[in-house]
Amino acid sequence: MPLVNARDMLTKAKAGHYAVGQFNINNLEWTKAILLTAQELNSPVILGVSEGAGKYMCGYKTVVGMVNGMLEELNITVPVALHLDHGSYEGALKCIEAGFSSVMFDGSHYPIEENVEKTKELVAICNEKGLSLEAEVGSIGGEEDGVIGAGECADPEECKKIADLGVTMLAAGIGNIHGKYPENWQGLSFETLDAVQKLTGAMPLVLHGGTGIPADMIKKAIDLGVSKINVNTECQLAFAEATRKYIEAGKDQQGKGFDPRKLLAPGFEAIKETVKEKMELFGSVNKA
Ligand SMILES: [Zn+2]
Repeated sequence: MPLVNARDMLTKAKAGHYAVGQFNINNLEWTKAILLTAQELNSPVILGVSEGAGKYMCGYKTVVGMVNGMLEELNITVPVALHLDHGSYEGALKCIEAGFSSVMFDGSHYPIEENVEKTKELVAICNEKGLSLEAEVGSIGGEEDGVIGAGECADPEECKKIADLGVTMLAAGIGNIHGKYPENWQGLSFETLDAVQKLTGAMPLVLHGGTGIPADMIKKAIDLGVSKINVNTECQLAFAEATRKYIEAGKDQQGKGFDPRKLLAPGFEAIKETVKEKMELFGSVNKA
């Protein structure tokens, strides 16, 4: 099945009280592991690509070529969206041009008026081209230059302002953080999430920084209207750990263990396992 935008899968998820996972990709192994797991579990899936990862993979056109090739060669029949993660305005335009089916415009660092203006322009372009669009209000915390931000809470009125522009889904900061959560993390602000959902109605809400949020908080967030959850760091940690074990056991020095098809296999399996756990937790299994 060719790429689809994320609108239908997220509308269904919101109505059915589950969430679709966005798993960020970094290379061929990552993409293949995520697509095969989604197919095995009969789950819709969103492949996330950050601007940095896009550059690393030789540009958006390369990414689109690889993903489209895999959808065909691996006979993927579940709904798959290819989504720009935390895009700039220019990055979003480039991805639309390259053949992505969904983009995020992260205007959270602009004053709200400018975020509204730029988001509005992208709503018009995405509507015309049939893409889904994610917007962000209230920046999501994380490590920047060694300083770990606490994770800002979005202003629900500002969320409504952006939601009313006709975006497909909305990321609102509710104390969530990218990367690993610090020991003294305060947890998600369900108060903020509840207030945002009350004002934005049927709008699917997006939870960034899905790595390390306890399962009960994930479930509660889904109950309160979160229909898309982003996972990135957790797959990276799983891949690194499995690869390290392989090398530390000296397996790369036995026989043809140095062959990348063998060397990268444990990491590939570890990504599959992580994606499976997340899809089960999010409730998207058999929802394709
Ligand atoms: Zn994010």
